[in-house]
Amino acid sequence: MTPHVAAPDPQAGAAVKAADRAHVFHSWSAQGLIDPLAVAGAEGSYFWDYDGNRYLDFTSGLVYTNIGYQHPKVVAAIQEQAGKLATFAPAFAVDVRSEAARLIAERTPGDLDKIFFTNGGAEAVENAVRMARLHTGRHKVLSAFRSYHGATSTAINLTGDPRRWASDTGSAGVVRFWAPFLYRSPFYSETEQQECERALAHLEDTIAFEGPATIAAIILETVPGTAGIMTPPPGYLAGVRAICDKYGIVFVLDEVMAGFGRTGKWFAAEHFDVVPDLMTFAKGVNSGYVPLGGVAINAEIAATFDKRPYPGGLTYSGHPLACAAAVATIQVMEDEKVVEHAAHLGENVLGPGLRELAERHPSVGEVRGMGVFWALELVRNRETREPLVPYNAAGEAAAPMAALGAAAKKNGLWPFINMNRTHAVPACNASEAEVKEGLAALDAALSVADEYT
Ligand code: PMP
Repeated sequence: MTPHVAAPDPQAGAAVKAADRAHVFHSWSAQGLIDPLAVAGAEGSYFWDYDGNRYLDFTSGLVYTNIGYQHPKVVAAIQEQAGKLATFAPAFAVDVRSEAARLIAERTPGDLDKIFFTNGGAEAVENAVRMARLHTGRHKVLSAFRSYHGATSTAINLTGDPRRWASDTGSAGVVRFWAPFLYRSPFYSETEQQECERALAHLEDTIAFEGPATIAAIILETVPGTAGIMTPPPGYLAGVRAICDKYGIVFVLDEVMAGFGRTGKWFAAEHFDVVPDLMTFAKGVNSGYVPLGGVAINAEIAATFDKRPYPGGLTYSGHPLACAAAVATIQVMEDEKVVEHAAHLGENVLGPGLRELAERHPSVGEVRGMGVFWALELVRNRETREPLVPYNAAGEAAAPMAALGAAAKKNGLWPFINMNRTHAVPACNASEAEVKEGLAALDAALSVADEYT
């Protein structure tokens, strides 16, 4: 379905932009150097501006519109809930909140049967860490370099993205380790098996030197997203699970980005047959129509707080509008077989299409991913694997990626660009035709990147 695009109205667009420039302080940006696109509308896999340009969204917003924009059933559910009970405080049992928790708990793996609701991913991470610390009576948390866990206090300190903030003070109790990544192996491995074994040995060494009795939790993204969609080698996550069991450490999997169908399963953990003790989620839980995140908690950790209060909470925890959007989204995903469709796209359309592009474009160093969760790592030289732009490049140094982005947009594709990577992360319910349209636009954009090899 190709959505309607509103008639161009550049004057209205200019007014939206002027007010934005005057009053909106944007995330992650030098305020004086940005020029945000004024968005006039969105539907399904597309959005459009006030000048008559339409874009195929290969970013799913910030990797969250898993069922696309303006799904009529989710919009209707939010409207209906607003008419019925628009808000109610978290200390009460509310039908739509109970129903959302039940639907989520039924889909999370193992005995992750209790749901603590937050407003987003970072708060989910904050609370998972708090639960692990209280459950174990220990303080340290181990997290991976090349990870993203959010931008609040503990979450940003766990993030190892790489670390690049002038204000970074580090945080007492956060210890970072190297997770496996064969293409740029921290362990100089040549095979996936080597990478897995060496990464597990490194993790166990880190634990030994830090002191197992001081470590509350290990947190990992099941498939690290923002830092590069690096599918872990077979056996790695099961190995981390075994290490956590051995030392009594809480295993937290962060599925804020990888969860709710993105990898072609409800949760990425299912691909690797692991069940964490705590699992964070957000984004795809309700396609981001109303802010919602949470922690899925196993029976043992939940029991810690049976007789003693949990010292944490949020005014909007389990907000009825967000929960109504989650109930409707999960129903749509079931009814329209969205998770199965995402797996199909990955196996038969997007994955093969990206690999075919990699064969023809010398700027593509590696293609990796699953479902509708893919990264192209771009290089100047395939042999040396020198990144197309250096880490943390800005201005002129980032020009090749900026040129790629501009070419994609010229061809009607809105791309996700981070450092030397472009990610292909369309909606889980994008049609085959839409994915092929995106691949054709990427083809053109990669020809521009090739000029820098
Ligand atoms: N964890 C992961 C894996 C994420 O990808 C993100 C957001 N990109 C977060 C946590 C933080 O989520 P939020 O921005 O909703 O706080």
